[in-house]
Amino acid sequence: MSKVRVRFAPSPTGGLHLGGVRTVLFNYLFAKQHDGEFVLRIEDTDQNRYVVGAEDYIYKCLEWCGLTPDESPLAGGPYAPYRQSERKNLYKKYAEELIANGHAYYAFDLPEELEAMREQLKAANSDSLQYDHLSRGKMKNSLSLSEDETKRFLQSGTPYVIRLKIEPDQHITFTDLIRGEVEFETNHVDDKVLLKADGMPTYHLAVVVDDYLMKITHAFRGEEWLPSAPAHILLWQYLDWQKDMPQWGHLPLILKPDGNGKLSKRDGARLGFPVFAMNWNDAKSGEVFQGFKELGFLPEAFVNMLAMLGWNDGSEQEIFTIQELVTHFSIDRVHKAGAKFDFEKAKWFNHEWLKKTDAEKLLPLVKNIFENEKIVVADDTKLSAVVRLTKERCVLLTDFIEQAGYFFVTPKAYDAAAISSKWDKTKTIFFNSLTVIFSQSAVESTAAIEEGFKKLADEQAIKVGELQMLFRVMLVGSKKGPAVFEIAHLLGVEETNNRITHCIKTLNLS
Ligand code: GLU
Repeated sequence: MSKVRVRFAPSPTGGLHLGGVRTVLFNYLFAKQHDGEFVLRIEDTDQNRYVVGAEDYIYKCLEWCGLTPDESPLAGGPYAPYRQSERKNLYKKYAEELIANGHAYYAFDLPEELEAMREQLKAANSDSLQYDHLSRGKMKNSLSLSEDETKRFLQSGTPYVIRLKIEPDQHITFTDLIRGEVEFETNHVDDKVLLKADGMPTYHLAVVVDDYLMKITHAFRGEEWLPSAPAHILLWQYLDWQKDMPQWGHLPLILKPDGNGKLSKRDGARLGFPVFAMNWNDAKSGEVFQGFKELGFLPEAFVNMLAMLGWNDGSEQEIFTIQELVTHFSIDRVHKAGAKFDFEKAKWFNHEWLKKTDAEKLLPLVKNIFENEKIVVADDTKLSAVVRLTKERCVLLTDFIEQAGYFFVTPKAYDAAAISSKWDKTKTIFFNSLTVIFSQSAVESTAAIEEGFKKLADEQAIKVGELQMLFRVMLVGSKKGPAVFEIAHLLGVEETNNRITHCIKTLNLS
């Protein structure tokens, strides 16, 4: 069997939607588990839809997700170039070959003539407004014109497109790796443009030519491309490449949380969650779409969550590393039906991943988030310990600001109500004595701090529970956080004492 080669073939027209990243992931997993190659091909033949920055954004997303292609415009490879605009001159000969063997034709219609055709069909209540076997006879093309007329048009430099000639009443079937047997009738398939007037191929021609030339063996793509499959299959046949045609797998859609239709980029803003992998700035509309990355997702969690959108390994296991996914993934366990996106579940994955990721690995990420918030971290060892202590409490990386930021910033405000409900003169005496004890004796461990604290409470006959709550608010500003003696230990006795004094002063406690 020939080496497995798959491709992700995005058009650089905007940000990478999570459905797009899932397509990357399934391609990647399939390639890796078959010891094959994963190709990234940029399909930029539609210059009108080209968006500056979109290609770069794709590279960055793939890098963040750790789904690095083996061959790409950046990495190069044996079938370079991998950007279709740079392959422009390669496609024309195939379009001409199709004309020569009677499967395509020249069409000289002007935009206004195409518009008039649609208007006429509309007026005649026609089922279809397409350029197809029913309408092409009335249009200006090499099928309806005489040979001489066609020649004249071509010689005089009249702009033309090349269209695929779809014969009616053909029955096309293929076996989709996810959907099983798929059937189409050609009666409703239009005569797709293959080569445009500017000499650029359309997606339909370029995708077939490049999948062939790049020796792609399996093509996994979104379900929205299923209606294009009959035209593609015919092209493989007409170019006499059928025996090399890749096996297709059309991946189910990712649906809105209520299951009502495809999740769109607008749904994110409407429902309050990201739909793009990373922040995407739409230069045209000026809109900024927040990404999973910037919201505080770990790439491992994001990828894991995507894998489970429409796939499981048949067991109860939900948390998978990328290596485990490579081992366990199987394309025949990908569901046919669309997968509903559930943001709460996505966050659950991130929480699980934060719990299982080493503090040392999280350190640079948390540091980065702190830097953005102007939280200064002077001591990495301390931050490491803080991350270890607080990561269970964080669902998103950005939660470290609230759950761990106070280790590095003295509280500016306190839960005054919590303190005043329990404060009296005895507490002032207690906390003043506590600072003295802390500054005099060596309290170098959590246990020593706890022991000193409890011994003093005992001596002064005050309930420890009340004191602990007060102590916590003094150190943190509020009633949250892990075990208070751990907090004090990590702050160090000097800072602990400072915070006690600062709180007493700020709230004017006596
Ligand atoms: N260029 C198409 C896209 O933008 C690729 C479809 C395919 O994979 O065949 O998604």
